[in-house]
Amino acid sequence: MTAPESAVPPPSNFIRDIVVADLEAGTFAGRVTTRFPPEPNGYLHIGHAKAISLDYGIAAEFGGVCNLRFDDTNPDTEETSFVEGIIADLRWLGYPVESDPLYASDYFEQLYEWAELLIGKRLAYVDDQDGDTISEQRGGFGRPGIESPFRNRPVEENLDLFRRMRAGEFAEGARVLRAKIDMQHQNMQMRDPIMYRIRAAHHHRTHDAWNIYPTYDWAHGQSDAIEGVTHSLCTLEFDSNRELYDWYLSHLPLPFEAPKQIEFARLELTHTVMAKRKLARLVADGIVDGWDDPRLPTLRGLRRRGYPAVAIRDFATFIGAARTNSRHEIELLESFVRRELNRVAQRRMAVLEPLKLVITNWPTDDRGSPVVEHFEIANNPENADDGVRSVAFTGELFIERDDFMVDPPKKFFRLSPGVEVRLRGAYFVTATDFVTDASGAVVEVHATYDPETVGGSAPDGRKVKSTMHWVSADHALDARVALYERLFSAEVPGEATGDVFDDLDPESRRMLTECKLESALAETPGGEVVQFERVGYFALDLREPMLFHRTVGLRDEWANIQRRR
Ligand code: ATP
Ligand code: MG
Repeated sequence: MTAPESAVPPPSNFIRDIVVADLEAGTFAGRVTTRFPPEPNGYLHIGHAKAISLDYGIAAEFGGVCNLRFDDTNPDTEETSFVEGIIADLRWLGYPVESDPLYASDYFEQLYEWAELLIGKRLAYVDDQDGDTISEQRGGFGRPGIESPFRNRPVEENLDLFRRMRAGEFAEGARVLRAKIDMQHQNMQMRDPIMYRIRAAHHHRTHDAWNIYPTYDWAHGQSDAIEGVTHSLCTLEFDSNRELYDWYLSHLPLPFEAPKQIEFARLELTHTVMAKRKLARLVADGIVDGWDDPRLPTLRGLRRRGYPAVAIRDFATFIGAARTNSRHEIELLESFVRRELNRVAQRRMAVLEPLKLVITNWPTDDRGSPVVEHFEIANNPENADDGVRSVAFTGELFIERDDFMVDPPKKFFRLSPGVEVRLRGAYFVTATDFVTDASGAVVEVHATYDPETVGGSAPDGRKVKSTMHWVSADHALDARVALYERLFSAEVPGEATGDVFDDLDPESRRMLTECKLESALAETPGGEVVQFERVGYFALDLREPMLFHRTVGLRDEWANIQRRR
């Protein structure tokens, strides 16, 4: 896989410093190999994008390679559909998988041989105790560990039992293989950790070939070593596992120099949960519509929401790598999204909550039909090359319900009786009257237009305080628009009660079903993001026609946060 170009210069980070020092010292014979090791038990989220950015970024910068390796040691939760989904997500993010991916399950035979080797060196033994007893005996900080009565089994007996475990002679949970290290070690990971469990499970790749499965801890470091990984980047919680990984590696005949594990802080975002287990629960409980729900931080959710891949990559590059855990504001990510969309998104007019505006002095043609005029409006004022589109204007329009008030407060500059405003790119109009329904709600506004103000400017130089968007009623397309709030209302979900699900906002999605769009939006391809003028950025759904998701609003909330600091 190759890393894409990024507009954001890579910040200096401690990982790069370590790699540079290794290269200068000639460690690993000048090679740099990293890996991205997802477990195929869910789809990728934006935290993974940070890991990907580091793994691929470091490899690319030093002319090395980054392997995609599926860490598929757990047969219970892993599925081929996740493998395919992860590859698709990587491609979308800008990291195409050019060769066949690697799988930890391809190393099961090698790992098994190495396990026999450790047994032969009296460094591993079969324990007949159950899982609860083993956990109990592990002890804890300040609590001594208790050695298993099976710890000093003879090598031959261990080998025989381990081979019979593999052959499927014993029930699940009847026995495990453990490393024989030190039951009094200060690091709990070193208190005779489990290497193999008996599992009568079907594996997504090895099918029913195995009756025992390696633990993640026994598989991970060795998988790196088999691949010749030099710098194994992982998140901070694996800090205490490093000693164990190094211990395993130090007792095995490796094909390459042992990899160096370097831990970095995992990405956390405000108002967001990232752990796959929790995301899986949101999906399973139907709180969101699926792994690609636009409220999720999954890459497929963000994609559906309209986040450009380049914005996610630039964000990941910008935040870089740190050694202490911290939570980034979601507004920072959104500012990267907004910056990119401002550059590329076509401008369109869309009325989300429509109110009819009738222009009472609008002319009719010879046959008595209202005249239709067409205005050319720039597709993107940020980029003249994007050209213009033609927008139809007639005597019946839709404006935003919020843009009219019968009895406005002082600072309301939009339409109200007697007030003149500009209809963007078209004419000045002055409200003259309005119609209400039985409940008193305004259902129609009447106005006159000034024919002299064609294109939206007055030859006499008079000014108006407001420019409003509009859509011709006869030409409008009907659409549904999903508005999103944060899925979790608390900045740190679960902080108050310990349960992130307590902080779910039950109204995180509001569907508007009567939206009116300008006709040029009929040409918009699924997945594209446009700016609805004055309203925000919206992505057309990838599958469903005329369903738009609000990507981000127009206001740079990140700038506001910084100003307040
Ligand atoms: P989760 O906790 O979300 O289930 P995980 O660590 O179990 O994540 P893996 O599929 O094992 O998910 O992760 C693949 C790689 O991505 C690992 O190297 C892991 O450290 C990294 N990673 C996972 N979550 C984050 C995150 N929030 N920030 C940075 N890197 C992450
Ligand atoms: Mg994991």
